[in-house]
Amino acid sequence: MSFIEIRGLSKKYGNNTVLDNVDLNIEKGEVVAIIGPSGTGKSTLLRCLNLLEKPEKGELSVEGKKYDLTTKSSKKILELRQHTEMVFQQFNLFKNRNALDNVTEGLRIVKKIPKDTAEKIARKELDKVGMGNRLYHYPKHLSGGQQQRVAIARALALKPQLLLMDEPTSALDPELVGEVLLTIKRAAKEGNTILLVTHEMDFVRSVADRIIFLENGKIVADGKPEEIFENPENERLKLFLRNINMLRSADDYVI
Ligand code: ADP
Repeated sequence: MSFIEIRGLSKKYGNNTVLDNVDLNIEKGEVVAIIGPSGTGKSTLLRCLNLLEKPEKGELSVEGKKYDLTTKSSKKILELRQHTEMVFQQFNLFKNRNALDNVTEGLRIVKKIPKDTAEKIARKELDKVGMGNRLYHYPKHLSGGQQQRVAIARALALKPQLLLMDEPTSALDPELVGEVLLTIKRAAKEGNTILLVTHEMDFVRSVADRIIFLENGKIVADGKPEEIFENPENERLKLFLRNINMLRSADDYVI
């Protein structure tokens, strides 16, 4: 049994099959990156695991506890969301709450933790992402990189079994990407289990334990970074890597 098991996940928008019976196992502490062409279902896969989208079919097991991803029970939905916290491209902080309250609020509402304890946890998490000196800043007074670090602290404070990250650096100015990637790297080193969609291929290469290549709603390659980048077997994966300049054949160097 794996720590996280996704079975038969299928999602359509109208006639457009976006996820086609996806199965995926993730081990505790693994960092799994999903790569693939635009519009291939990467974001939808994450969103279905947090029930921001309702799939037609699918099951998620967390440490052996099974959840039907088509459930309508709000109790089950809340329970499942506690296992899978999400970090979004656009940070999604509460605009009218300072950094500390953004993190504290989640703990109070979701985990029903008393204010004092919640604040203590929040301070610790904000400290870890280098935001300990910005506790009382509102999002509009923080850079995008700082806002995303608060969002990561908020997610980690809730101790999810699976942290979902949907292009966490795509909305940032280039000079702010590094600080957020460093924060994710730290979270990975601390043993968090992470499923991440990103276009930062150098980061994926150095931090991910496994890479999944998703195409047309199916996992068509799944391997360690070196297997994916140095020795891709799948033709579509090769083409994708060539298109994003991560794979070169001898011919590419002929000018
Ligand atoms: P990716 O993250 O790989 O770029 P997405 O998961 O965002 O891809 O989208 C996969 C497909 O689903 C695309 O064809 C997209 O247009 C479609 N799609 C995504 N969200 C919706 C929606 N809310 N309604 C209709 N189609 C959608």
